[in-house]
Amino acid sequence: MAIESVEATASPPAASISATTRCAAEPLALVDAGVPGERSVARLDAALAELGATSTDVTRILLTHGHWDHCGLVPTLRARHGTPVALHPADLAIVQRGHVTPEQWDADWDAWLDACGAPLEPRPELLVRARQMRGDAIDVAPDDLITEEFRAPLRGGELGTILTPGHSAGHVVFVDRQRGIMFGGDHVLPAINPNVSCLPGSEADPLTSYLASLDAIRDLDVTVTLPGHGDPFGDLRGRVDELRAARERRLAAVESLVADGRPSTVWQLAQRYPWRTAWAEMNEITHLGALGEIYAHLTCLATAGRLERDEAGRYRAS
Ligand SMILES: [Zn+2]
Repeated sequence: MAIESVEATASPPAASISATTRCAAEPLALVDAGVPGERSVARLDAALAELGATSTDVTRILLTHGHWDHCGLVPTLRARHGTPVALHPADLAIVQRGHVTPEQWDADWDAWLDACGAPLEPRPELLVRARQMRGDAIDVAPDDLITEEFRAPLRGGELGTILTPGHSAGHVVFVDRQRGIMFGGDHVLPAINPNVSCLPGSEADPLTSYLASLDAIRDLDVTVTLPGHGDPFGDLRGRVDELRAARERRLAAVESLVADGRPSTVWQLAQRYPWRTAWAEMNEITHLGALGEIYAHLTCLATAGRLERDEAGRYRAS
């Protein structure tokens, strides 16, 4: 059986994008498990039927990372068949965020807003929005913890693992070297730049990790990448180079903001960044996302020695 890719998407869509579910050849491994909901179940069942299979035949679920739109059908498949699940341990904090007490969650976000230099006045509303994210997780207790050595057998081959932290701390991609196929999760997407943010609980410097993770897969000998969102694509190296160039443009834009002004906090720089939607027009959720993005770029620039962060959390040219 050739590897097939099927979409089992999007009820409701995560944001403006839909999650996908991918099937690899026998023994059937499901790479990522879409968004929750009956529509996803129906689409997965229909896609499996095209392979002459049912969900009973799925022998394991391999998660590229712990975001809810990649884990949605895990509870359903486990309840139906007890299907074992594999996830990298660094993403346990994402799938098990509901285990954090509300008080601890608020305290972590408040400390993060401190580090961003956020003023006190908008904080109550920002913390209300942040609290909503606590419930935004599919609680998964993985049977297997993924390491670099993790392998999943397939008929006539196997799926190997490459650690690709950045989009999340425990992000991995799975590679079928024999057939030249990469299951890319949200590491390399065909149409959009994957989100990489410094948020509470994330890596200290996720963007530096992400760029290294692009290098780690750039020269893979694969002919098709099955992404977590969007259509399969070839020319992995070309797409990696585009994503790198886009990151470098944003890094340069953030660096020039710092160079042009007085020492500034994440909050101040996020307000000044030329977003497509003006800061004043954004809602609180978007403000949190924008802060996380800018914070990630500033941290990456500081790691590279392109700017400095002082003790008050203000950035200046180095
Ligand atoms: Zn994701």
